[in-house]
Amino acid sequence: MGIRTADQYLESLRDGRRVYIRGEKVDDIPGHPILGITCNTIAAGYELTASDDPEVKDLFVAKHPETGEPINRHFVTPKTQDDLQNRTKMIQRSIELIGGLPFGKDIGTDCLNAAFAVAGQMGKREYQENAANFLEHLRKNDLHTCGAVTCVKGDRSKEPAQQKHPDYYLHVVDKTKDGIVVKGSKIHITSAPAANEIIVVPTRQMRENEAEYAVSFAVPANADGITFICRGGRGAWSEGEFHADRPVRELTEAMIVFDNVFVPWDRVFMCGEWQYSMLLAYTFATFHRFTAISYKVPSVEVLAGCAVAMAKYNGLEKVGHIRDKLAKIAAYVETLRALTNAAAREPVMYGDIAVPSPLITNMAKLHFASKYHEIMALVQDISGGIIATSPDRRDWNNPDIHDYLEHYLGGSAKYSTLERMKMIHETMRHACSHESAFHEVTTVHAEGSMAAQNMMILAEAPLDRYEALAKASAGIIPREEGFRGK
Ligand SMILES: Cc1cc2nc3c(=O)[nH]c(=O)nc-3n(C[C@H](O)[C@H](O)[C@H](O)COP(=O)(O)OP(=O)(O)OC[C@H]3O[C@@H](n4cnc5c(N)ncnc54)[C@H](O)[C@@H]3O)c2cc1C
Repeated sequence: MGIRTADQYLESLRDGRRVYIRGEKVDDIPGHPILGITCNTIAAGYELTASDDPEVKDLFVAKHPETGEPINRHFVTPKTQDDLQNRTKMIQRSIELIGGLPFGKDIGTDCLNAAFAVAGQMGKREYQENAANFLEHLRKNDLHTCGAVTCVKGDRSKEPAQQKHPDYYLHVVDKTKDGIVVKGSKIHITSAPAANEIIVVPTRQMRENEAEYAVSFAVPANADGITFICRGGRGAWSEGEFHADRPVRELTEAMIVFDNVFVPWDRVFMCGEWQYSMLLAYTFATFHRFTAISYKVPSVEVLAGCAVAMAKYNGLEKVGHIRDKLAKIAAYVETLRALTNAAAREPVMYGDIAVPSPLITNMAKLHFASKYHEIMALVQDISGGIIATSPDRRDWNNPDIHDYLEHYLGGSAKYSTLERMKMIHETMRHACSHESAFHEVTTVHAEGSMAAQNMMILAEAPLDRYEALAKASAGIIPREEGFRGK
């Protein structure tokens, strides 16, 4: 098959999977008012691979490296800087063209690419073959994936083996000659109820007495024993929003319960090799934060654009303190863009797999997450209180009061009141809404907490070199020795 249509993808979700949302069991996932939004956002990604525009098609459809057949570019295992840069471009163009990210293949392949790279490091041929065969399965059937990494974790101060019960971290409960049986729960998994395949990697490093938790595999979303319990989501545009002329783009996260799920051996990428669990979690985090920084660039561009536009609608674009704030916002966005590009240009090679620079990737993610709220405050400041209190589209459309709004809610005479109202509502969505609060929390936690990024920065940065240079400068060690550090 190679490239599926949007309809084929939507139909594939009617496969008997067990999905709950807001307390109700859902049988028709694409037909559900909230989950359908997730499905349509992902389906829009399938429309890109079917595009008639050669520029779009070339970006989203790649050639199978051996057969030359068309495959979704997500299924190209990165081997070069160009592969990494194309991945960034593809993610960013998706957002520009769709108005949201059909996220899932990205994180699924972040897991698989990491499993591939680590199987090579382990020297385990069977895992390498399993990953390669599974990748062929994804390529051939053009499947949507999700990446299930975050375990529910119970008491965070305790390791998996010390918890009140053994299931706070996903683990192997049985092994047979045909496969393994796993139990546990992964949480916050983006686009999970609308994925065809779930790819699992360990959430953290495991120790020798936690070998059963060092497990990675892929399993179909409708496998026996799997239940999805989904986040409520925002649903369709309300009557009051000014966006009704375009589709809502949103992805639902789910908690996935694995209740004694059987996984055949040929879908297992790690089972018990606790010594490599850290490398797998670490390599996944690098791939995944690289995906994250790639998609964060266009999202913060839109946020920055709201500030620029609101400054103009309010007639303030030439005022000194507003210009200083816009400069800060622009520097934030452009630093993120520059670091993202640099991470792709300085990959670390694991065998023939190009892993984006772990140091730069983590710096970029930390830059994004640690400064986001500060930038948000600037956007809110520039826009004015109207982004909290604005009348809505129903008021605008009511002839009794329309003229008051038209008359009093104008700004700079260069723009119509309607244009200003639309931008107020767009800014409200990004800076003062249930949706924006969700994104503020997502910024802090998704793709790992800031502490996790700091840990990886410390592990990757050349601290010895800094120290040697300082010691040389202080005359503690000879100067030549100081400059020899890595
Ligand atoms: C919108 C969204 C989408 C997501 N999508 C996915 C997805 O698709 N797949 C996936 O696998 N995950 C996903 N995640 C999960 C994300 O990676 C986690 O939220 C993140 O790793 C933090 O884990 P947590 O939420 O369990 O928070 P916690 O681990 O509870 O962290 C809370 C705080 O406690 C600190 N902390 C935790 N444990 C310790 C410790 N032992 N010692 C010291 N400090 C500690 C953390 O640093 C943080 O400051 C998503 C999250 C969000 C919000």
